[in-house]
Amino acid sequence: MLDELKTNNRNWAAGKVAADPGFFQRLVDQQAPKYLWIGCSDSRVPANEIVGLDPGELFVHRNVANLAPPQDANYLSVLQFSVEVLKVEHILVVGHYGCGGVAAAVDGKRRGLIDHWVHPIREVHHDHKHELDALADEGARLDRLIELNVIRQVKNVASDVFVQDAWARGQTLNVHGWVYSLANGLVTDLNVTVTGPDDVDKLP
Ligand code: ZN
Repeated sequence: MLDELKTNNRNWAAGKVAADPGFFQRLVDQQAPKYLWIGCSDSRVPANEIVGLDPGELFVHRNVANLAPPQDANYLSVLQFSVEVLKVEHILVVGHYGCGGVAAAVDGKRRGLIDHWVHPIREVHHDHKHELDALADEGARLDRLIELNVIRQVKNVASDVFVQDAWARGQTLNVHGWVYSLANGLVTDLNVTVTGPDDVDKLP
């Protein structure tokens, strides 16, 4: 079973060692990533590959529709560990165009538990209904909702007490909002970077 994957794994590990004999030993000894990635679980959005980072360089949290819900223990544990222990300097909230999770939040169909998970996106939709309704094209409306969802999650991260406390301690921490395009592999910076507590209220 899964022989192809096991063969791929052996080839990958051998390739890493061939290029850099100390590669795995260094990772055993420590991890010191400067970045936390909060992205979608979508199989077409491979975090490390997109930004060209090796194992050890990117701390990753992924869930459906790249949410940062302030009551989710999984996300909060990742956030606290990466900010307080790893002391990452950048948190990247990365959405992607064509996100099925965001689309599912507003298509009116019932799917079960996922309808509850994506509920925060319906709130974003409600809060920006005027702007979204003004867009004639359905695709453009979904693209904009995907961007607005990223911005909302940036706001969630930046207003969290772990992040607020880090800034109060004088720790350098920047929260960014990006969107990835499945069509061309490129990331767009939404220019909503938050570098301190005063920036949070400026977000739309
Ligand atoms: Zn997605």
